[in-house]
Amino acid sequence: RTVLITGATGFIGSHLAASLSAAGHHVIALIRNPAKAEMLPPPVTLITSLDHLSSDTRIDAIVNLAGEPIGDGLWTEAKRAKILNSRIDMTGEVVKLIARLERKPDVLVSGSAIGWYGLWADQVLTESNKSHACFSHALCEAWEKAARPAEELGVRVVYLRIGLVLGTEGGFITRMLTPFEFGLGGPLGTGRQWMSWIERDDLIRLIAYVIATSDLAGPINATAPIPVTNATFTEELGRRLNRPAVFRIPSGLLRRFGGDFADELLLGGQRVLPNKALSRGFVFRHETLRSAFDAIL
Ligand code: NDP
Repeated sequence: RTVLITGATGFIGSHLAASLSAAGHHVIALIRNPAKAEMLPPPVTLITSLDHLSSDTRIDAIVNLAGEPIGDGLWTEAKRAKILNSRIDMTGEVVKLIARLERKPDVLVSGSAIGWYGLWADQVLTESNKSHACFSHALCEAWEKAARPAEELGVRVVYLRIGLVLGTEGGFITRMLTPFEFGLGGPLGTGRQWMSWIERDDLIRLIAYVIATSDLAGPINATAPIPVTNATFTEELGRRLNRPAVFRIPSGLLRRFGGDFADELLLGGQRVLPNKALSRGFVFRHETLRSAFDAIL
């Protein structure tokens, strides 16, 4: 099968490309920075624009992940615009490509995030829950909406509501390691906010599963079956690293310096369950955080 990946040089996309390629699929990776080509060695085919694909190109599946990083700094107006526009523009280009292709792909797996649900306390959230309004929701809703025209073109569309992805070399865990190394690890605010995480290889297996399962469509939560609170996450990380995890950062301080970014990504959360994946019998290799940490740390 031929799979086109946008965001193929990212923390998720680069591993997805390597994994699909190793499994014998033909991967076409859209990259914008040729200097990163070495991350994706042959047989991955590299392109720098979707316009380079002719209308008779055979593409069986598209995985759309590209977008300005969300968790690497304050959400200034300019940053918000970049976060939003990069995803909407790229998804629009993907839809344009699909419209142009003589033979449509079977499936578009388009990025979204559990931020779609907005901020909740302890309520358990599945794919059938509604949302609360906030920037994360507005962003994910616009990102999902941009992919919707592909449904009208006869393509099966899956909106992958991705949780906090745990893996090596990048992502959230790498950012958390430094304070722990200096003995400054600890909960954020009350520590009661939920963190719905997924181990990166499980996410990649789930994406492959979604591509291969022809009757799966619509929103799918990509999170492990056992989400934890920030306090548990921090305690477990400290235990695994053998470092103290008692240095609590007060909510007020985080809000003062981080604004909405702190409110939504650090102090807020969602307790999400991957009901659709579980109901289909998808098996997570890492159901518990301890198992995920053992694999990646
Ligand atoms: P990364 O930030 O590691 O990678 C982002 C990818 O998008 C890179 O390939 C990057 O290219 C590309 N990109 C960035 N900005 C633009 C732009 N303006 N135009 C075109 N391409 C761009 O992200 P992840 O791999 O971690 O995540 C992939 C997607 O999944 C993201 O959209 C993210 O929001 C979403 N997600 C991730 C989660 C996580 O925990 N990692 C959680 C929930 C959702 P380049 O290498 O050239 O910069």
